[in-house]
Amino acid sequence: MHLIDAKGILTGNGGRYGMNIYRGCTHGCIYCDSRSTCYHFTHPFEDIEVKQNAPDLLEKALRSKRRRCMIGTGSMSDPYMHCEEKLQLTRRCLEIILQNGFGVAIQTKSDLILRDIDLLDEINRTAKCVVQITLTTYDDRLCSIVEPNVCNTKERIKVLEKMQERGIPTVVWMTPILPFINDTAENITAILEECARVGTKGIIDFGMGLTLREGDREYYYAALDRHFPGLRDQYIRQYGNSYELPSPNAAALRTVLRGFCRKHGIMCDPDECFSYMNELPERYQQTSLFDS
Ligand code: SF4
Repeated sequence: MHLIDAKGILTGNGGRYGMNIYRGCTHGCIYCDSRSTCYHFTHPFEDIEVKQNAPDLLEKALRSKRRRCMIGTGSMSDPYMHCEEKLQLTRRCLEIILQNGFGVAIQTKSDLILRDIDLLDEINRTAKCVVQITLTTYDDRLCSIVEPNVCNTKERIKVLEKMQERGIPTVVWMTPILPFINDTAENITAILEECARVGTKGIIDFGMGLTLREGDREYYYAALDRHFPGLRDQYIRQYGNSYELPSPNAAALRTVLRGFCRKHGIMCDPDECFSYMNELPERYQQTSLFDS
């Protein structure tokens, strides 16, 4: 890990901002797209770049904004990696988001997020908070292979439960689904059952498959060689050098997903899920206008 002073912290326009406090990630997911060369990392992916001045930058940036909106975080690196236990930069940024009346849509695979549930709860009461958890693999043994350095799916489901108890809405990312590995109806159904039980508001999938590109592909194939001998050749025969690798079962799995979500009133259209996560309710906007 190395510390830097970043120049800025927010991306996007006034409708919705994005924020990444860390660059790189130590959770070790074998399929991680963020390690692709197109993101131009100048340091090893596991040598996390820590934007140590993120809270100061965020405070300055939010103070100057008149219009409240949602702030998304966690898309490029997990805001609850192990280093966050000590650094507490995500926690400090949440405090600033709360103080300034903004909403947050936060994405993680780690149950360390429960440390900050008090803040998430308060943000959800004063603005809006959406917690996004990735669930790809119900089987614990398989999960420890594909997502080795972070808590397993069962523990992440407990996070969803705790959020439900507080009335904090959740969205599940059911992606990626790895061809010939976790692309079974049993796996998808087991995850869906849990999503319904814990009142998940939406489920995002991107076509029941995987994407691979330079950097990410080599890392993934090396993991296949270690854990699934022979599978690399099967991938190369089936997909060549394609960016998109849909599961051969994709259509059937999507039918299962759509049918289940319709029955349980869960959003499963990605655009609908993103609109939901990006919108701060009008009611709050009106209240904040009087406050300012
Ligand atoms: S948690 Fe996300 S960013 Fe971190 S290794 Fe896994 S996929 Fe990559």
